[in-house]
Amino acid sequence: MDLIIRRAVLTTHIAHRDEPVDIGIDGDRIVAVEPRLAAAAREEIDAAGLLVAPPFVDAHFHMDATLSYGLPRVNASGTLLEGIALWGELKPHLTQDALVERALQYCDWAVARGLLAIRSHVDVSDARLLAVEALLEVKRRVAPYLDLQLVAFPQDGLLRSADARPGGRPLGGFDNLKRAIEMGADVVGGIPHFERTMADGAESVRLLCEFAAEKGLRVDMHCDESDDPMSRHIETLAAQTHRLGLHGRVAGSHLTSMHSMDNYYVSKLLPLMREAGVAAIANPLINITLQGRSDTYPKRRGMTRVPEMLAAGINVAFGHDCVMDPWYSLGSADMLEVAHMGLHVAQMTGVDAMRASFDAVTVNAATILGLEGYGIAPGCYADCVLLDARDPIDAIRLRAARLAVVRRGRVVARSPAARAALSLEGRPAEVDFKLSR
Ligand SMILES: [Zn+2]
Repeated sequence: MDLIIRRAVLTTHIAHRDEPVDIGIDGDRIVAVEPRLAAAAREEIDAAGLLVAPPFVDAHFHMDATLSYGLPRVNASGTLLEGIALWGELKPHLTQDALVERALQYCDWAVARGLLAIRSHVDVSDARLLAVEALLEVKRRVAPYLDLQLVAFPQDGLLRSADARPGGRPLGGFDNLKRAIEMGADVVGGIPHFERTMADGAESVRLLCEFAAEKGLRVDMHCDESDDPMSRHIETLAAQTHRLGLHGRVAGSHLTSMHSMDNYYVSKLLPLMREAGVAAIANPLINITLQGRSDTYPKRRGMTRVPEMLAAGINVAFGHDCVMDPWYSLGSADMLEVAHMGLHVAQMTGVDAMRASFDAVTVNAATILGLEGYGIAPGCYADCVLLDARDPIDAIRLRAARLAVVRRGRVVARSPAARAALSLEGRPAEVDFKLSR
């Protein structure tokens, strides 16, 4: 074999019950997962009872804006409105080279964090489609080490950005989106709550779902990213998904209005989403900071109903959404930070719920992206992360160091464990923040 990772604890393992396993890798695939694998390999890694997880997957990101922090100025108020204004100021100055360079740098950070698959929305509102070209170039260049999936995203609205002149092209926004798909974008995006009216929003959902069905594509819309309880485009998205047989291929991103919806209405909505196989992507870091801004007190949490959707059998992932861009000044490609925030905002502190928060940045997100060969099992791609933690809950608690990141059987990143040296009389010389028993 080429590589064996010895004494690994898997995400499905329970401490003191399950014996650690050895993971045997040949070429770019996992070929064996069993205790005390009787084989030799060119290279061995001793996991020493620590967690080996499949790579982190970010189901919702904006790579065309990332790492633009400070360009042309910082978001002084930290609000959504200033962020949108800032993006408008920045857009005319974007160059393809700068977009590619920033995205590649972000992908370096991602790999270092064991984040090996990202679904990024890319703004198609600009008729030049500069960002689409740039991110297609990035997708090609990072392919050996990171799966980048691109969503054609009409940030300024599909119908709202259309040329309204008599005789003009009635669906200018749609033309851009279709061209982006022809160029190689993978997924159909949308932003129904940003159209001029509820009716236009519903119409945009219908048009986009029909287009996706015709082309055999997945759909992922920014949907109901608002505190308005009457923003109910997710209902239309679920209905169109069901009507067109797109089950399992559609995701609603953000869905923050659901937080404020009437409980009885939600009790009807969740079964509709489940019936249509529509997945949900919550973005806890961003929405806890951007939503509820017009509230005084009590202030609403800006996150959709994650535990309730999970209980209803709906697939839910957590996305990072933004890192150091006009909308969010923080972040470092750490999906454990995302899971940590999601867990807190949703009060997912039960044992199963904490583990579900880890799934929301790994396997649940991989399902939404439709990743092939994802997981720690024979036949899967040899992609994994060795974390300095004993289980997924500890990984979230510590935002654990990625001791080794493996892509297609090759170690592509290593980080040192987090340790602090102490100089205290009668106390240990070092702490690693793990329970010592
Ligand atoms: Zn977004």
